[in-house]
Parts: sequence; structure tokens; C-alpha cells
Amino acid sequence: MKHYDVIVIGGGIVGLSSAYYLGKAGKSVLVLDKGNGTDGCSFGNAGYVSPSHFIPLSSPGIVSKGLKWMMSSDSPFYLKPRLNLDLARWGWQFMQHATDQHVSASKKLLADLSILSRSLHKEIAEELKLNFREEGIVMLCNTEKTLKHEIEIGEMAADLGVPAKTMSMNELDALDPNVKKNALGGVFFPQDAFTDPKIFMKQLPSLLKPLDVTIEYGAAVTKFNNVGGKIQSVQANSIDYSADQFVMAAGSFSPPLMKKLGLRLLLEPGKGYSVDWVNPASMPSVSYIFVEARVAITPLADRVRLAGTMEIGGLNEHVNMTRAHGFLRSIQNYFPDYEFEKIKDLPIWAGLRPCSPDGLPYVGRTRKYKNLILATGHAMLGFTLGPATGKLVMEIALEEKTSLEIGMLSANRY
Ligand SMILES: Cc1cc2nc3c(=O)[nH]c(=O)nc-3n(C[C@H](O)[C@H](O)[C@H](O)COP(=O)(O)OP(=O)(O)OC[C@H]3O[C@@H](n4cnc5c(N)ncnc54)[C@H](O)[C@@H]3O)c2cc1C
Repeated sequence: MKHYDVIVIGGGIVGLSSAYYLGKAGKSVLVLDKGNGTDGCSFGNAGYVSPSHFIPLSSPGIVSKGLKWMMSSDSPFYLKPRLNLDLARWGWQFMQHATDQHVSASKKLLADLSILSRSLHKEIAEELKLNFREEGIVMLCNTEKTLKHEIEIGEMAADLGVPAKTMSMNELDALDPNVKKNALGGVFFPQDAFTDPKIFMKQLPSLLKPLDVTIEYGAAVTKFNNVGGKIQSVQANSIDYSADQFVMAAGSFSPPLMKKLGLRLLLEPGKGYSVDWVNPASMPSVSYIFVEARVAITPLADRVRLAGTMEIGGLNEHVNMTRAHGFLRSIQNYFPDYEFEKIKDLPIWAGLRPCSPDGLPYVGRTRKYKNLILATGHAMLGFTLGPATGKLVMEIALEEKTSLEIGMLSANRY
């Protein structure tokens, strides 16, 4: 049986990006994934590569808004109350971090990580000849209060090296004349980009082929063999695979695996839905976020992808139709031609975002096992940050200086 330099558990965007940069650095890598490489959170997301998203999920106002939303069965954010100690710990840490101080402390790192990742995405897209669309994202608002707040975020963005422009409705219509809009105005982030995540994920393995990287699908890791603070091997399908180092990149499925290693990982799955509308009523020329409704609209080749909801409700991909219809119904409040009747029967995809309580990913070695690198917890930013995370994982594995100072992403912070 071959012994590898590194075994990566999980073949989503974080796992495959890690394998890519490790392989490019000359390491022999095995990626083990329980799926078949055609679906999962990294495939059906909105495809934004968005430096504009530097405010972590745990931010001021989210707790009171969340409590209000919890009273409504079709709201965009929902935390299902459960008697579970890990959820209670997660919720407590989430509330502790929903502060201005936390936003101030983390926004620069999130912006820098996204800017780095955007440039890596662009390089990968060029190698794969993918349509990496650098056309920007509009944060579209239909209340004065949110518009004011978004303008403030736009001002913060400029200080972080992320260009932003406040736009009137006339300016937005000139930017994107294709779609009728019903809003008060918005903020345009011209450096945000987007691409079709499914195509990206299908093509990425072709970049790994010339490297010393093997991907095994249908290989769910079920067991670890450890000796003296080191992982020796993992087991999948009753086969032992050994390596010098291991990367945990199993997204929302990481906590039960970490538990097998005697490690507690504060991470909750945040379920979201997306719907593809082929030949939509009108095709936008930029992507949008409807701020109050928390909905993302991505124009892809022949379709728009409509994505939304954040449901903290455990490790299940069951579609809650009331909530899914809630987000689909909200779309016509911004794009009147996107009538609910036209989209309500389209197939609904569900994915689980791996959410840390402070809205920052975990990237780093664990204290208990020096040869285990944790790379997960990217929540709404995993597609954006996948390549940068992969590069950081490679640098950590090779014991090089990391491209950015990432002490705040420590795997041992809770
Ligand atoms: C509706 C929606 C819209 C989104 N939009 C965006 C967006 O526009 N931009 C953005 O940046 N992010 C977005 N996200 C978030 C993004 O999709 C995730 O953060 C990202 O996909 C997480 O990637 P990952 O590799 O960490 O996890 P995953 O993609 O979940 O990959 C984990 C992999 O681990 C494998 N695995 C699990 N258990 C095991 C095991 N025991 N053994 C072996 N393998 C295992 C799984 O099969 C899976 O392939 C969105 C998410 C949703 C749900």
C-alpha cells in the first residue's frame, strides 16, 4: 500500500484546492471523499468570489434580527432550537462575537483572504479556460435603513482595498438595462466576480491529474489510527491509508470525524437552497444580492441561479418547502418579472455551509495532533476562499511562512 505525504479528507473546493497546491509543491497526495464528485455544498452554491463579503456572519444586529426571523416559518435565517450541548456552545460563542469589535478585528483579514483568493481563482480559471466573470455584484436594497447600512459598508470596503460605488436606480438601470428592478438603490462592488461552481468543481480534478494526486470517491473515512499524538492512518471501506500529514476538509461533516479523534469542533451546518431557472424572464448582466431578503442572483450561461436561506438545523439536507418558497417568493419584490408562480415548481437543491461561531474559517494545525491540519468553517465564503485556503494549507504542511498572518483562524481557538 502506497504511503502518501498528505491525505486530504473531503473533496469539496477546500479539499481539492489543498490537494492542488500540495501537488504543485511536489507532495504525493490522496484525497478521500465519501461522495462521487458530482454534488455537495461546493457545487450548487451561488458561485460568488466576493471580496465585498468581509463582514462575518456573527455581526451586530444579527442576534435581534435572528430572534425576529425565528418567529416566521419562511424567513431567510433560522436556528432550530435543539437540546444539544455543542449547539448551545456554538450559539453562545456566536452571540459573543456579534459585536462591532469583532467586525473591526476580522474585516481586514477576511478582505485580504478574499482578495488573495480572487487572484488565485483567476489563475485557475485561466488554466481551465473557465468563464470567470469579473462583472461585479450589486447589493440591492429596498428599504432606506438597509441602503444606508450598505453605503456605510461600501465606505469601509474602500478602506480595505475593495472598491465600492453607491448607485441610484438610474445608474443601476444603466449598468444593467436587461432587468426591471424594484428598489431604492444599491452599492456596486465592481471587483467581485462569479463563475459556475458546478463547472469549476467538475474541471478542477483535471488540474490534479498531471500532479502526484489521487482522488478516491466513494471513500468515507470512518476510523483513525493514532499513535503518540500522531495520526498514522485513516480507514475508508475497510482499507487503511497512511500518510505523514492529514488535512480535515470535510466541511459540515467535519465535527463527527473530529469527535472520533477526541477533538471538539464548534461548527454548525447552515443549510441553504438554490434553484436554477433556465431561460429566465430576463437575464441580468451582473450578479445581485437582495439585501433585506438575503437572496443571491447569479447569471450563468443559459440560466440564473437563485440562492438563499440560512437554516441552522443539524446535519440534514432535507428541503423545507415553506422556507424555500419563502425565499423564492421574496424575489419578485426586487425583480417584478421573476414572479413566484414562474419559479415555484423548479427543482430545489440544498447544501450545508460549514459555519464557525465567529464567522472565520479554521485553518491551522491542531494542538493535539501535530500532523493534522484543519481547513473548514468557511460558511458563506467557502467558494470565494477555497483557493486561498488551499494555498495556506500547503504552506502550513511545508512549514513555510504563510501568505497572510492567520493567527485568528487557529484550529484551537475554542
Ligand atoms: C445556497 C448556498 C449558496 C452559497 N453561495 C456561495 C457563494 O456565492 N460564494 C461563496 O464563497 N460561498 C458560497 N456558499 C458557501 C460554500 O458553498 C461553502 O462554504 C463551501 O462549498 C464549503 O466547501 P468545503 O470544501 O469546505 O465543504 P464541502 O463542499 O461540503 O466538501 C466537503 C466534502 O467532504 C466530503 N466528506 C464528508 N464526510 C466525509 C468522510 N467521512 N470521508 C470522506 N469525505 C467526506 C463530502 O462528500 C464533501 O465532498 C454557498 C452555500 C450555499 C449552501
